Amino acid sequence: MTAPDVVVVGGGPIGLAAAIAVRQRGLDVLVVDRAQPPIDKPCGEGVMPDGVATLNRLGVSCDFARALPFRGIRFTEAGCAADGQFPAGHGLGVRRTILHQRLIDRAAEAGVAMRWGESVRVVDSSGVEIGGRKTPCRWVVGADGRESSVRRWAGLRAPAKMRRRIGMRQHFRVAPWTDFVEVHWHDYGQAVVTPVASDEICVSLFANVGGLRVPELIALYPELERRLADARPTSAARGAISSSCVMRTVVSDRVALIGDAAGAVDAITGEGMSLGFKHAIALADALADDNLPRYQRAHRRISRMPERMARLMLAVGGRRSLRRRVLVALAAQSRLFSFMLGMHTGSLSLRAAPIGSAARFVRDLMTGVSVANERFTAGL
Ligand SMILES: Cc1cc2nc3c(=O)[nH]c(=O)nc-3n(C[C@H](O)[C@H](O)[C@H](O)COP(=O)(O)OP(=O)(O)OC[C@H]3O[C@@H](n4cnc5c(N)ncnc54)[C@H](O)[C@@H]3O)c2cc1C
Repeated sequence: MTAPDVVVVGGGPIGLAAAIAVRQRGLDVLVVDRAQPPIDKPCGEGVMPDGVATLNRLGVSCDFARALPFRGIRFTEAGCAADGQFPAGHGLGVRRTILHQRLIDRAAEAGVAMRWGESVRVVDSSGVEIGGRKTPCRWVVGADGRESSVRRWAGLRAPAKMRRRIGMRQHFRVAPWTDFVEVHWHDYGQAVVTPVASDEICVSLFANVGGLRVPELIALYPELERRLADARPTSAARGAISSSCVMRTVVSDRVALIGDAAGAVDAITGEGMSLGFKHAIALADALADDNLPRYQRAHRRISRMPERMARLMLAVGGRRSLRRRVLVALAAQSRLFSFMLGMHTGSLSLRAAPIGSAARFVRDLMTGVSVANERFTAGL
């Protein structure tokens, strides 16, 4: 391929998804990544149901020899647990490297050109420079992650106000004890447990404070610590920044940003990759239509709900008394929890709200202080 229509800078999951979607619309596309595949990255490794559905639309088979479906999310703290089941579909726990290889295979099948181990250094509106040689193209897609260089070159600055937290990830050899993704809450942050195989789980630990190592972070969650007491780690602990930032503008001239390069929702939402996959389809539609402003509008629309959810979860999670009252009230109203998951993943609209369950939740929230206190005093 001499002059592709589109060069995608960054072959992470979202860059590859964008390239596949672009190829599906008949454009020539080249993906360039400075790393060698399959690329690992600290991640909770849970793909939400909307992400699984979007992967299917991209022709990426989610039938893995080593992965596990999950049917909902469990919030838990000090012995109290609330289970929310997805109203439609299921999520998928899958090791990052396995998912990356599957995306590469699908991209190759779709006719995407890929160059690994090469950095893209300079971008102007007429093309990019790869390994010192200019490659002209009509559009450049910046899928180069949180510290995006394409964003800088295109003059699209990330907002200064960015909420950052530290996320650590490690795998353990243990049979998953549930088919829910568990989110353990604590004043200092959360531990998220994703089953990724019949004998392996992925634990991601998010801390609002710095300086804690994985064993110290796990010790914050006695129930998790007990379950992992005899479990052998199957990967080294790796850390990454989880950030929440909204970018108002993700396009400029012939450049479009996608994935973490275009802003991110806090990892606690579990929506990072799923959002990016949906953006990939919107971007391909816009490029095929030669209409980048259309992508800009779609990006805002698709991102809005997960951004709100991230703000809500972190605001409630940071207030111990409120967090515990919400947990107790939610545990009693699993229908409401399921509905909220449906809203979060885009399968339900407000019209489907279970009014009775919501009213009981609000009543419990207002009146349940003593119940919550009793439950947690007993559990701690
Ligand atoms: C601790 C943690 C847990 C998370 N858990 C989940 C989860 O459970 N579920 C979920 O959906 N999301 C989760 N996320 C979010 C998710 O990991 C990200 O949203 C996702 O990785 C974004 O993918 P991306 O392709 O945009 O970027 P990346 O995966 O960062 O890929 C960017 C790529 O660009 C390449 N690159 C950069 N600059 C250049 C250059 N100049 N030239 C060539 N290549 C370049 C890099 O090598 C890299 O491969 C989590 C995030 C964190 C930090």
